[in-house]
Amino acid sequence: MSGMSASKAYEFQDHSFDVVVVGAGGAGLRATLGCAQAGLKTACITKVFPTRSHTVAAQGGISASLGNMGPDDWKWHMYDTVKGSDWLGDQDAIEYLCRNAPKAVYELEHFGVPFSRTEEGKIYQRPFGGMTTEYGKGIAQRTCAAADRTGHAILHTLYGQSLRYDAEFFIEFFAIDLIMSDDGRCVGVVALKMDDGTLHRFSAKQTILATGGYGRAYFSATSAHTCTGDGNAMVLRAGLPLQDMEFVQFHPTGIYGAGCLITEGARGEGGYLVNSEGERFMERYAPSAKDLASRDVVSRSMTMEIREGRGVGAGKDHIFLHLDHLDPDVLASRLPGISESARIFAGVDVTKEPIPVLPTVHYNMGGIPTNYHGEVISGKGGADDIVPGLMAIGEAACVSVHGANRLGSNSLIDLVVFGRAAGLRAADVVDPAEKAPTLPKGAGENSIARLDHFRNANGSTPTAELRLEMQRTMQNNCAVYRTGEVLEEGVKLMEKVHAAADDIKVTDRSLIWNSDLIETLEFDNLIVQARATMNGADARKESRGGHAREDFPNRDDENWMKHTLAWVDDNRNVTLGYREVHNYTLSNEIEYIQPKERVY
Ligand SMILES: Cc1cc2nc3c(=O)[nH]c(=O)nc-3n(C[C@H](O)[C@H](O)[C@H](O)COP(=O)(O)OP(=O)(O)OC[C@H]3O[C@@H](n4cnc5c(N)ncnc54)[C@H](O)[C@@H]3O)c2cc1C
Repeated sequence: MSGMSASKAYEFQDHSFDVVVVGAGGAGLRATLGCAQAGLKTACITKVFPTRSHTVAAQGGISASLGNMGPDDWKWHMYDTVKGSDWLGDQDAIEYLCRNAPKAVYELEHFGVPFSRTEEGKIYQRPFGGMTTEYGKGIAQRTCAAADRTGHAILHTLYGQSLRYDAEFFIEFFAIDLIMSDDGRCVGVVALKMDDGTLHRFSAKQTILATGGYGRAYFSATSAHTCTGDGNAMVLRAGLPLQDMEFVQFHPTGIYGAGCLITEGARGEGGYLVNSEGERFMERYAPSAKDLASRDVVSRSMTMEIREGRGVGAGKDHIFLHLDHLDPDVLASRLPGISESARIFAGVDVTKEPIPVLPTVHYNMGGIPTNYHGEVISGKGGADDIVPGLMAIGEAACVSVHGANRLGSNSLIDLVVFGRAAGLRAADVVDPAEKAPTLPKGAGENSIARLDHFRNANGSTPTAELRLEMQRTMQNNCAVYRTGEVLEEGVKLMEKVHAAADDIKVTDRSLIWNSDLIETLEFDNLIVQARATMNGADARKESRGGHAREDFPNRDDENWMKHTLAWVDDNRNVTLGYREVHNYTLSNEIEYIQPKERVY
């Protein structure tokens, strides 16, 4: 049975809301809650059940300068974040993040997040990479944790809270595209209901994209298979740019082979890395922070050790993470989740043996450019003009608070601070009394054309084959270390994979739970982001944060302290442009933090 007839399936069901949030991870739920709380008629559309969003997998914690375990200050948090970003972050947005972080964590506590506790009953905080006191002097304990299941605790709590208010959830709806008016305003989205194949048009005064990252452009990633950056691709198809896509974070400790994450919290609790000679090599690369240097630094050091023949295992191709010297009670109470992952995915008992680990793709610093209210920037003429009616938050967005490298535990706080900010802004700019925007003539027809094209795609290359080709190319040609030669080859190879999509083959023609079709739409979303990433990396002739060029080993502030913008048009052409980094703060309580060399 092949689903329903074409004519019936392609009728739209129309909905009208003040705000439509796409995504129900930490960012989407916090925004949904805020909008509904402000009395706006709010919808939340999500392709997976809310508590299955990737946020659920976050382990180590959420940063905020609560100072529960020693002195702390939001200004120190800001300094660390600016330095972590290798001065590519926008300092007005970073100030907003760090200043609002403690409030956001207390709000989560009051919502009911079951944080781990100190002896006196305060929120427990652990050390994380790159987090310091007094502008780099000491090590800060800033990362608030619910054991090593912090994302799980936050996501379930936020979902529970958002059900208190009158938000309407559209669960297992796959958003296909934005609806843009002729004058460049976003007026809603088109979505496919996956269990019955019906198509839905949502008109909205404000659309908020919270669709997460695109880790699955790579072969080995810690992110869920659903992390395909659909919102980013929707933005590209609307003719808008993505920002800083060449900055991809490799987490130092993915389990060798499986790619599952072992949280940085493991090193925060005292774990350390060793090479085949049993040496704690991080002491050589980062004499003061050692194993708690920032992620780009640790990932590069591990890669160097392996390259120089000091990797462990039969292939000398990975590194050991030791936790076996730690008190088994601490492991059981603070790191139960990763102890289980190590047992299942590496066959290792962490109380007795080291875990085999390897740098693995973990986070996308790049995404949809926004200001600190969450409003999307059009990128026209390099200015900060906004796209009316459109916001982006969470990993999908590039505010940019993480710049060229995100510090561990700074994403969860980004989700709630900017999810909240988007709700506040929507409450300011959306008038519930105003009538709904009229959809332009033929709204959604391009989505039907796209859906139909893939549903009937009758070429000879299955989607899975093209996807593997893309993932391998990203893994090989856009890795921890990069050179011009390898990137240029990557640009060409990726162009070829993109062109080969003309020959794509989808076998299932139905519209009921057609995972073949959904994966094809996701591949089509991933490939444009892969192109933007590769081209941006090829063009950026310097090393900064997560972007390490062997042929240009130094940071070049004179020529490259700027955000990359990337457009990918319908003819598969990638165009790059640039935008100024905000070299100013929000208030006069803190001055612009001047660039200097980044050492840990
Ligand atoms: C294993 C792991 C551990 C991590 N640990 C930490 C940590 O300890 N601390 C920290 O700060 N950060 C951590 N991170 C990073 C952080 O968890 C993520 O960056 C963050 O959770 C992303 O949240 P989000 O709300 O932006 O998106 P997600 O949680 O990824 O949610 C995306 C949402 O968008 C929806 N969606 C996507 N596409 C569509 C579509 N086409 N139609 C409809 N809906 C769609 C999905 O259904 C989902 O609800 C970790 C990441 C991973 C992978």
